Amino acid sequence: MLSDKLQLYKINKILKRINQLSPKMKQMSDSDLKKQTAKFKTMLSQGENLDDILIEAFATVREVDYRVLGMFPYDVQVMGAIALSKGFIAEMKTGEGKTLTATMPLYLNALTGQGAMLVTTNDYLAQRDGDLLRPVYENLDLTVSIAVSDKNQNVSSSQKRQWYNSDIVYTTASSLAFDYLFNNLITDKEDQYMRPFNYAVIDEVDDVLLDQAEMPLIVASKNNLQSNLYELTDTFVNFLKQDRDYIFKDNKRLVWLTYYGVKKAEKYFRIENLFSADNRELYRHIILALKAHYCMVNRRDYAVIRGKVVLFDERNGRLQKGVQISTGLHQAIETKEKVSLSPTKKSAATITFPGLFNLFNKIAGMSGTAKTNEEEFLNTYNMKVICIPTNKPIIRKNYRAKVFLTTSDKLLAAIKKTISLHETGRPVLLVTGSVENSEIVSELLLNYGVANNVLNAFNIPYEAKIIANAGKRGAVTIATNMAGRGTDIKLSSDVKKLGGLAVIGTEMLSKRMQLQLSGRAGRQGDPGSSQFYISLEDDYVAKDSTFKFKKGYRRLFNAKKKGKKIIQLHSPLIKLSLKLLQERIEEKAAMTRMVTNLNAKCLGKQRELFYIWRNNIIKTKNLENEVADLIDQVIDIYLKQTDNWDAGKIKDLVNNHITYQAVDIPEITNTQDAKKVITKISQQVLEKKKKKLINNQQLNKFYHQVYLHTMDILWTDQVYYMERLPIYTNYWQVSGHPSEYIYQKWAYESFLTFESKLKQKIAEEILLSTIYIDKKNNIIVEFV
Ligand code: ADP
Repeated sequence: MLSDKLQLYKINKILKRINQLSPKMKQMSDSDLKKQTAKFKTMLSQGENLDDILIEAFATVREVDYRVLGMFPYDVQVMGAIALSKGFIAEMKTGEGKTLTATMPLYLNALTGQGAMLVTTNDYLAQRDGDLLRPVYENLDLTVSIAVSDKNQNVSSSQKRQWYNSDIVYTTASSLAFDYLFNNLITDKEDQYMRPFNYAVIDEVDDVLLDQAEMPLIVASKNNLQSNLYELTDTFVNFLKQDRDYIFKDNKRLVWLTYYGVKKAEKYFRIENLFSADNRELYRHIILALKAHYCMVNRRDYAVIRGKVVLFDERNGRLQKGVQISTGLHQAIETKEKVSLSPTKKSAATITFPGLFNLFNKIAGMSGTAKTNEEEFLNTYNMKVICIPTNKPIIRKNYRAKVFLTTSDKLLAAIKKTISLHETGRPVLLVTGSVENSEIVSELLLNYGVANNVLNAFNIPYEAKIIANAGKRGAVTIATNMAGRGTDIKLSSDVKKLGGLAVIGTEMLSKRMQLQLSGRAGRQGDPGSSQFYISLEDDYVAKDSTFKFKKGYRRLFNAKKKGKKIIQLHSPLIKLSLKLLQERIEEKAAMTRMVTNLNAKCLGKQRELFYIWRNNIIKTKNLENEVADLIDQVIDIYLKQTDNWDAGKIKDLVNNHITYQAVDIPEITNTQDAKKVITKISQQVLEKKKKKLINNQQLNKFYHQVYLHTMDILWTDQVYYMERLPIYTNYWQVSGHPSEYIYQKWAYESFLTFESKLKQKIAEEILLSTIYIDKKNNIIVEFV
């Protein structure tokens, strides 16, 4: 708290100095303002740093914001901007104008010439904000791009290069992540389009770095690996009995086999040991089938639409079309639902948002709700959260939550409340926990004669339009949790005197989600209210409640069944238990994210090393030394196989790895001589190959092809292995071993193996592959 006050004090001091410069800026002509950019750049090149020029730079942008957009950033916006420039997270409430705030830190940080990005959560916002603010930056002599498109695949490399070389880039976290992955799959230096990442302001930072932290973004490779294990295991799990053969923890979404289950599997599949290395895949598929059957619920976690399994995004109830869980769970669900299997995709490259933003020199974030997760931001990302005061005081009324016993009691009460609010003319935003509930509630309201708009998985195209109307007199909007976030609900003028927008939540949520929802009402000093209707049957409560809590619920439920009238619960004890439950769930979620981040870091480190290696190969024009060195290393690896070499063994080795031709091997007794012989043969093979090629340039073309082809294939396998690793290591956790330790150990070992295998494979392809030159003098490599 003290450090917060201190930070705000410091920020205020800077603000004062910016304000003092305002009159001077007002007197400057448009072209003088434009010239400021060149002046700042010179100052930077002469050794001044960003903090030295911040005050004048911010004052400059502020004036240009006003001249171009007619909006002069409020003092609180400048405060937010200062925080962002320092790499903090600025907590600014909905409607405070985060879009305009970001112009200042983006301008300042782009002056370094290394680029500044604004990362939003969806294409619509990137486009809207980029379009709006482009003239501001262009009037300051900076280049701007909006790096999103409808069909990202069709954008040319040169177009993308222009995007990413712009001073300021508006984009989304997922476009950026995919472009980064694709950029690193490119085989020609000329086709790469990205420069190193410098500075980013992440909008809705809690959504990107917390809620979506665990979702990997995946570029699938073309290799298909279909397996009939899905069907076998799908049938098998039907024979299992809960608690005897497998244990299922709904709250943790964890499921595992007991001793009896393991024995049953060994019998069913006629194997000796389910946990032997040979049966890893089988074990993995059994767990996937169990998960598909018991953790994934139709219409809660996914829907079957026209013969396809489509996942729900847990956060906002939207359908994630085209998104697949890459570990095979998708196929397992498809098998369970008896729809045709989509081809298993192996990932060629994958990254998480935390992994992506780790690559920046500096990041900052904005959100209406970040303070509740302050500690996690500090521990995981080393980012401080600063609460920026609102421009006008908040007068929204947050009413205390009402607690009900059952879902239907809760929904009926929420509907009644909606109707009575609607009758006063106030607009209502009714938020439900699932797609199904949004439909039920909508229908019930219609039965009462209340027209309403539904914002859920099935009508995203109308989202922005519905939100734009949600603040009008008498509007009733039903939405799933996060739908429409980022678009402001503006009140029509007649609604303000009626009390503004009323937000009604109908599900228990995390503290941060609750604040997010309430924040949709009462923007910029508007009137408004919020209230939550929750029940003991809410998913959030049921998934994680303690034994004692469940017992209490059952007692009340039975009493109600016997005729006792129990609808709303007033007991302070219940309210306290719910509060404790909420804290416990949040702590656990943070823990899970920590473990996932740890795993992502492991893969991130490997990815970094691999990409450095790969980029080095792309950059190096002449690979001859590299190849000689690699073959030498690989021969050493081969020679480790045994200590007593003889002519026969060497012959086998040479025929397996170096040439298919017959070779004469002299009688050899020690390893040193063996090395000499093998080295000589491989040099001869290489010389022969070189003679086939026209010139040195073509030889290097051949080397490049072999390197990149082999690297990409083996890296895909490595990513595939790393993706599945948590499934294997989770088993250790269940049996009481620390799974993070096992994970890290196995991950590290697997990378060493990968490196060694890769080197061997490259050497083999260089020596054993066949090459042709076609009529147009192109080389064609027939890989081994
Ligand atoms: P947030 O993202 O913080 O919810 P937005 O950036 O969407 O808020 O801005 C909310 C509204 O406030 C926008 O319509 C914007 O035009 C307006 N606005 C923001 N800053 C100012 C300002 N300094 N002066 C006037 N209007 C502003």
